[in-house]
This record gives sequence, C-alpha cells and structure tokens, in this order.
Amino acid sequence: MKVAVYPGSFDPVTNGHLDIVRRALSVFDRVVVAVLQNPRKAPLLDTATRVRVLHDALAADLPVDRVEVSTFEGLTVNAVRAHGGASIVRGLRAVSDFEAELQLAHNNRKLAPDIDTVFFMTALEHGYLSSTLVKEIAAFGGDISEMVPPAAADALRAALGGRR
Ligand code: ADP
Repeated sequence: MKVAVYPGSFDPVTNGHLDIVRRALSVFDRVVVAVLQNPRKAPLLDTATRVRVLHDALAADLPVDRVEVSTFEGLTVNAVRAHGGASIVRGLRAVSDFEAELQLAHNNRKLAPDIDTVFFMTALEHGYLSSTLVKEIAAFGGDISEMVPPAAADALRAALGGRR
C-alpha cells in the first residue's frame, strides 16, 4: 500500500490543488491531504473550515476511500510517518515554485532520508492559480467560481462578508 501525504495551507483549496490530488492518486494507493496548522501564517480560513471545504471538494469528484483529510503541526516528515507514508506530494506550477520547493525537499530529505518528495505538474489551466490570488480576487468581489470548488467559494464569501 503506497501512501503519500500532500501537505499545504489550503487556504482555501483551489482547483489546482485538486488536480494535484487527482494526479497523485494515479501513482499512490492512498493520499492524505494534510492541512498545516501554522499560526504564523495567519490563514483567512480557520483550520476546521479548511478541512471541511477540502472534505466537500474531494468527496465531490474523487474516490473517497483513497483520500483522507487530516491536520498537522510541526514537521511534515513526522506527519508522513504518523500516516504510514513514505512520500511527500507537492505541486509545481512554474519555475517560480521550483526554488522554494527544492529547498523544502532537501531539508526534508536531511531530516528523513527514507522519505522522498514527489512533484506533480499541474494542468496548464491551473498554472496561474494560487490561494493568495483567489483571496485577493474574492476580496474585491471578483468571480472565482472557475478557480475553486463551490465549498471554497462559499467559505471565502462567509469569511470576507464582514470586510467588504
Ligand atoms: P504552502 O503554504 O505549503 O505552499 P499551499 O496550499 O499554498 O501551501 O500549496 C501546497 C502545495 O500545492 C505546494 O506544493 C504548491 O506549490 C502547490 N500548489 C498550489 N497551488 C497550485 C496550483 N494551482 N497547481 C498546482 N499546485 C499548486
């Protein structure tokens, strides 16, 4: 049973993230999407909301018996071990992602030589998508319906409701 952990902020999950989960499921038997609880990142959506939105989005079009949503704090490699995994999944959009991802992957390998990071390239149409951009567009009342699953758009609307 090949298990991979896909860690991230998912604030909120975008169609790009979902594309990566889908691709990872073609290689791994089970993918654990692990939501990072990092107070320093000051997410717009709280952890419970990010998890709920992910659950909704994944259940809508992916095999639920092979995907799990979880949370973690601290080292990614510890979360991977806790789930019985041997791989970290990350997504690449453009060269701009590469440097930061390379640094993370090397550090994680140093901490846990037995755990590999596996990268998937997103579909071209998601290459411009980021959670940060989606939040900015939503904050100014722009249409994000093609960028995120419906549950994420609803959660953003609720979270931004008081600010607009
Ligand atoms: P983090 O704070 O860990 O970067 P994110 O939720 O922003 O968390 O991203 C998690 C992972 O998903 C990262 O590897 C990132 O490069 C990747 N990712 C983010 N947006 C996309 C996208 N549109 N297409 C493919 N991968 C993406």
